[in-house]
Amino acid sequence: MTLPPILQSWVYDARAQRVTLVACMLLYAVSPVPEFWITQLNYIAMYSLVILGLVLLTGIGGLTSFGQAAFVGIGAYTSAYLCTSMGWSPWLTVFAGLFITAVSALVLGWLTLRMSGHYLPLATIAWGLSLYYLMGNVDGLGKYDGILDVPPILLFGWDISQGRSFFVLAWGMVLFGAFALQNLLDSRTGRAIRAMRSSTLMAEAMGVDTLRHKIGIFLIAALFASISGWLFAHFQRTVNPSPFSLKFGIEYLFMAVLGGAGYVWGAISGALMTKLLEDELQVLLPKLLGTSGSYEVIVFGIVLVLVLKYLPDGMWSLVGRYLPKPQRVNDWQGAKPLAERAKPAHGDTVLEVQKIRKQFGGLTAVNDISFSIKAGQIVGLIGPNGAGKSTTFNLITGVLGLTSGEVSFCGQPIGGLPSREIARRGVSRTFQHVKMIPELSVLENVALGAQLRGHKDAVSSMLRLDRAEEQSLMREAARQLERIGMGHAMHEQAGNLAMGPQRLLEIARALCSDPALLLLDEPAAGLRHKEKQALISVLRQLRSEGMSILLVEHDMDLVMDVTDHIVVMEFGTKLMDGTPQEVQQSPKVRAAYLGVEH
Ligand code: ADP
Ligand code: MG
Repeated sequence: MTLPPILQSWVYDARAQRVTLVACMLLYAVSPVPEFWITQLNYIAMYSLVILGLVLLTGIGGLTSFGQAAFVGIGAYTSAYLCTSMGWSPWLTVFAGLFITAVSALVLGWLTLRMSGHYLPLATIAWGLSLYYLMGNVDGLGKYDGILDVPPILLFGWDISQGRSFFVLAWGMVLFGAFALQNLLDSRTGRAIRAMRSSTLMAEAMGVDTLRHKIGIFLIAALFASISGWLFAHFQRTVNPSPFSLKFGIEYLFMAVLGGAGYVWGAISGALMTKLLEDELQVLLPKLLGTSGSYEVIVFGIVLVLVLKYLPDGMWSLVGRYLPKPQRVNDWQGAKPLAERAKPAHGDTVLEVQKIRKQFGGLTAVNDISFSIKAGQIVGLIGPNGAGKSTTFNLITGVLGLTSGEVSFCGQPIGGLPSREIARRGVSRTFQHVKMIPELSVLENVALGAQLRGHKDAVSSMLRLDRAEEQSLMREAARQLERIGMGHAMHEQAGNLAMGPQRLLEIARALCSDPALLLLDEPAAGLRHKEKQALISVLRQLRSEGMSILLVEHDMDLVMDVTDHIVVMEFGTKLMDGTPQEVQQSPKVRAAYLGVEH
């Protein structure tokens, strides 16, 4: 299907789409729609703000919170209390609410997010429950009756907390929040969050501080909820605990999941569908059943189960697949190149591994292994399956802690450092089992490797102040892809690649970090003959540029062809090391390794 040119340019122009959305919003506000439909959409706007936070936290970040309604409550109660008891202006109380929300989100996040598994969902349930009882039992907050007579929001004396002006205020905030979120997702920070969801281990190896990012998205989601609460308090002109109970915390999650928590517009449409369906059912169900009661809750439960089963990405995935995917334009030609690190001089010792050992319970996977790598050297690490090669990689890169021994990089001990710190110093790696972000393009996946070479934070990204740096990152990613012969595939979705190209993607990503030492875990597995030849010439080229490489590989022709030195492992111990010729001629190796393999 080809679109007419004018539509096509609109489809690929994010700015034009945003202007259109704002224009539609304003048109709706001044159009003669009945007041009822303005009020309905005012509620949907307030839900949408909360749900935008859940897109980031749950849909993209993979963290579940049942406690968002409690953050809405903090925003609402802070503003209601300070306005009625202290006479503050709502324009001040919004910041007070954000501050209290931020403090509670940071404390809660810091306590729970370091632990993996279900701690966060459980903690947010406890949080939602306890805040509800707190709001309902404090005298100063009016107990379960709440706070009455909350003042309106005035703008130059004009009440903007009702009807059409509130519609513009609330939807203005939703659109601004949605655009900021889209900007964030399409940035260095966005890639880090997606990487963290797909593999914490890989994200850390790319230099991402995953705990900081988890706490960060928890904080942003809480702040969105707090703003919604502020709007709610002044729209309703009264607050009481019930809209901030756990039930609503679950309902927000329901709306996001129903619409599609992974998509900004999906989640908002989830709020729309839920609200409209709820209204219809509240009228229809009592008629059908002949008695009144909250039967719509049962229908929602059934709908959610069906959606989760048949459309796990939400209703939006039905629409989303027909929407054209906006392509990244190759506009980075003029971008500034990224700074490069000072590399060790040719022949200097880059990596020194001294008697490293790793024990898994009774099994000694790596048993006092020692070797070293000089700048401009390719060292092969070979041995049968289970010999301990990948474990050795994980010990060098900080993924696993050493049981004993020491690793130094460029003369500095690195044993015991977290893997992102080792990455920062210039050690980069690929994984035996490819780890990438399948939903992003090849180019964006490779740009993740340059994570530590960019510096723009989440706020600059949300405000689109990161474009120059982003172009430099893309330029570098494109350069590394070209270098490895993958330039033609840069706009493809990474998850659609065959095994061979996926491995090449990982190498390009590792190179993007401008490493001084590259660790490749079985890079040729699954590669076709031509791809192997290309890999060999890339490895040679890298060596001639002074790169040091540690290579684990089963393809013996490739290993013998490119390596300068080989370490042979068997059952965790070093069998021998020497030049490729020495290794090939060693009867010990033939017996233990080549004999087994061939
Ligand atoms: P290679 O990469 O040489 O095939 P590995 O380093 O993956 O070998 O594994 C070496 C040995 O350590 C194997 O016996 C493997 O089962 C064991 N091993 C690896 N990782 C773990 C782990 N996380 N826990 C327990 N045992 C492990
Ligand atoms: Mg392995």
